[in-house]
Amino acid sequence: MPELPEVETSRRGIEPYILNQQVIDVVVRQKKLRWPIPARLKSELIKQKILAVGRRGKYLLLETGIGTVLIHLGMSGSLRIVDKGTAPEKHDHIDIAFNNNKVLRLRDPRRFGSVLWTRKDPAQHKLLSQLGPEPLSDEFNADYLYQQSRSRKVAIKLFIMNSQVVVGVGNIYANEALFMAGINPKRQASRISYQRYQILVACIKEVLQLAIQQGGTSLQDFTQQDGKPGYFQQILKVYGKTNQPCLICHQPIRQLRQQQRSTFYCSQCQS
Ligand SMILES: [Zn+2]
Repeated sequence: MPELPEVETSRRGIEPYILNQQVIDVVVRQKKLRWPIPARLKSELIKQKILAVGRRGKYLLLETGIGTVLIHLGMSGSLRIVDKGTAPEKHDHIDIAFNNNKVLRLRDPRRFGSVLWTRKDPAQHKLLSQLGPEPLSDEFNADYLYQQSRSRKVAIKLFIMNSQVVVGVGNIYANEALFMAGINPKRQASRISYQRYQILVACIKEVLQLAIQQGGTSLQDFTQQDGKPGYFQQILKVYGKTNQPCLICHQPIRQLRQQQRSTFYCSQCQS
């Protein structure tokens, strides 16, 4: 599933081709994604210029003078830039064509992705208005996370994966950041000290930044803009490493389930 680093990688990948370009066509081959593609998308978008290519959580925001396209990649979505006239393949559901002869193309085999349109401030959109701060912003800091945690009896891993607390800390990144910070994923959020939250916040930022630098992880269907898989998975330290020796203490990495998601940790190094 594309996580925040993949979405950010996509954003950076498509931005140079579509920023300040004018939309000349919109082709919808499959309108049944997670939510139906708005019928007015084409009439609204045509002749509009893309004024900004933003991201909020895992949503890409294509801003125009009259409204914003919200794109979510769902479970298996990916975006590509192709030249005008490039034949679509199976699962290439939507094209947005620009006056520079480039086409932004959404492929989504499982169709859990979405393309929506709003004329309002996208921050007020119901899908975005409840989201916590961006993990790489200054707003996400130890003071904030510590304050949020004081009344939470939930396990720390579930706490940092809650998008109302902070967006974009998916399962892989939560596992890796907690290992890096030496915090047991089962520990109750309210019982972790301010000092440890300082370390954890730094580790979350580091792990996400590293993943963005590496172009996102490549699990299952995701391929980067240029079609090459990401390489972050090659530097994972605990995720998917059940029974392999911990890189620090050589004890076997343990696995458990927390809310249907796999947790990997070292019981020796993480307390
Ligand atoms: Zn260890």
